[in-house]
Amino acid sequence: LDAVRAVEPRIAQAITDELAAQRASLKLIASENYASPATLLAMGNWFSDKYAEGTVGRRFYAGCEQVDTVESIAAEHARALFGADHAYVQPHSGIDANLVAFWAVLAQRVEAPALRRAQARHVNDLGEADWAALRRELGDQRMLGMSLDAGGHLTHGFRPNISGKMFDQRSYGTDPETGLLDYAALRATAREFRPLILVGGYSAYPRRVDFAKLREIADEVGATLLVDMAHFAGLVAGKVLTGDFDPVPHAHIVTTTTHKSLRGPRGGMVLCGDELAEHVDRGCPMVLGGPLPHVMAAKAVALAEARTADFRDYAQRIVDNAVALADGLLRRGVRLVTGGTDNHIVLLDVSGHGLTGRQAEAALLEAGIVTNRNAIPQDPNGAWYTSGIRIGTPALTTRGLGTEEMDRIAGLITTVLTGTQPGTSKARYDLDPAVAATVAGDAAELLAPHPL
Ligand code: PLP
Repeated sequence: LDAVRAVEPRIAQAITDELAAQRASLKLIASENYASPATLLAMGNWFSDKYAEGTVGRRFYAGCEQVDTVESIAAEHARALFGADHAYVQPHSGIDANLVAFWAVLAQRVEAPALRRAQARHVNDLGEADWAALRRELGDQRMLGMSLDAGGHLTHGFRPNISGKMFDQRSYGTDPETGLLDYAALRATAREFRPLILVGGYSAYPRRVDFAKLREIADEVGATLLVDMAHFAGLVAGKVLTGDFDPVPHAHIVTTTTHKSLRGPRGGMVLCGDELAEHVDRGCPMVLGGPLPHVMAAKAVALAEARTADFRDYAQRIVDNAVALADGLLRRGVRLVTGGTDNHIVLLDVSGHGLTGRQAEAALLEAGIVTNRNAIPQDPNGAWYTSGIRIGTPALTTRGLGTEEMDRIAGLITTVLTGTQPGTSKARYDLDPAVAATVAGDAAELLAPHPL
């Protein structure tokens, strides 16, 4: 840090402050974690300076021998960990991984000469006429994904993301009574809509998904099943989600981030069978810039960690903790979407406390509890203010907190929710500063035996 301080002291200070903030607060954001020192350190080195467009052994740059080693080892660990035929570890993020996968499926499934021409060239060399031809060829392909308010992700065909512009999209949702995925309705929509790609996976659904059933539906309508396991990859890696709940044996193609429950560096990955491998490997330069070799090195380290017995134990504790947290909240009268959890996510409906998600999120933060607001099914407050709070246990489980502490955290969350009054707008609220200070003190006490 001294070297950073010598150049730009404000950045050194921000790094120190971030560590202090992460140490001091109850980090309950479901998509966050604490990567190991080995993973973090594998990123801070001279691999950062290397260009390596292409794939292992077929680079557009000289001097990539060490990058080849790093990328091969990361892919080897990913294949072994998830039991996949092929692993592509270059995507820089989850969005990138999905984009690589979408293009791979299009290339495999759609008879599209303009796409083939585009793939044979560097993306920078494509002219207006090439893009126009591509739009004509690909414009009416269909994608069916989980709706945003049921817990789906923007990249599953929604307007603010390129997927919503590339594909004609339709959504499936959850049963309004139970909040659970409605497979019969999903099947009916798939039969009628006949998507090219059926997307499984979610960002805010607190239950397991039956991927065997999704594959059955995909096969029935001739769709490619793409599962985005960004959120629950750690639970798959740790063998908590197995059989019908493990997407890898059932999906044609699987995408993931590496930094959520999987506890690696920020990044993405694509897993697939041999029939899609060649198309997936064209991710760079089709939609990705040069790979980030320092991040691939860190992915290799984190994937090696995820193959250990310790990680299996960790994955089980993530779910045990989420169940304890959900039980503690239910006992204290908090309403949960689907009435509980069987993964790492607990989704609170705070409308019963007279609050919007935005108000609850800010009040909890004031009391040292970091969460994020989230839409709930049929949310009357929309995606900005919302009526929900999403919490997750991967980060605090990494810190070593267990089920007893989760019950106490449920108590702290309930104290804040019941102590917060809605204000004059959907963003304003009133929380007695003494209550916030007491909860923050209790949170610090809970964290003290588990230093970061
Ligand atoms: N897919 C899912 C299911 C996610 O939840 C997320 C992140 O929130 C992403 C993809 C995107 O990941 P990234 O932020 O790394 O692009």
